[in-house]
Amino acid sequence: MKPLIAGNWKMNGLLADATALAEDLKARAAAGGLACELLVCPPYPHIGPVADILSESGVQVGGQDCHNAGSGAHTGDISGAMLRDMGCSHVILGHSERRADHGENDAVVRAKAEAALAAGLIPIVCVGETAAERSAGQALAVIARQVKGSVPVGMAAERLVVAYEPVWAIGTGQTATPGDVAEAHTEIRRVLVGLVGEGAEQVRILYGGSVKPANARELMAQHNVGGALVGGASLKAEDFWAIATSC
Ligand code: PGA
Repeated sequence: MKPLIAGNWKMNGLLADATALAEDLKARAAAGGLACELLVCPPYPHIGPVADILSESGVQVGGQDCHNAGSGAHTGDISGAMLRDMGCSHVILGHSERRADHGENDAVVRAKAEAALAAGLIPIVCVGETAAERSAGQALAVIARQVKGSVPVGMAAERLVVAYEPVWAIGTGQTATPGDVAEAHTEIRRVLVGLVGEGAEQVRILYGGSVKPANARELMAQHNVGGALVGGASLKAEDFWAIATSC
């Protein structure tokens, strides 16, 4: 399976910024030849216009979250079906910013992932330890617990992406060492075997946390790394493209 390079635009930019970025990526993608799949996850109000621009480009579009219910009385929330209807293929779930800002725990993330799958989306389930957990020597235990608690059980491996994003590396410029990344991804793969069976080898495990053009190639070369989830550097087409072409 090709690596997946996913851009998480978070809560950045206005519509004109989103459409300009999408147009730039569309123009770059037109040349073809990328060795990876490319995905961008804009803020909700920008998904429709961005999906329209990228519809024939091969660049996929995803959401940054969805509710665990199919529809109903959930003011301010968005369903997986709505994302699918706007042209999304994927949805990021359980990002550490959602876990911290909105109190999402593993059970909530798993319920959202099940709802996303039911809506025809591929969930990108995020896990990762805090700095305190890493310095206490608990990084691998935390990661294993989050994967066990957040990933739907018994699902088809090709319908799942997991992202390892150490909280201390997100938006800080501090990247996990290639060795830390390889160790964490090996642990995630081990736990996935118990959850999805033999197909676990097919699950792409992305690394996220201060990925940039200068470090992407080395990180992407690590064992069990199947792509990247890119925040800050995905807001500049040039940088995002440089990351995409390094795998
Ligand atoms: P960053 O964010 O690349 O800006 O560190 C990654 C993420 O939060 O997905």
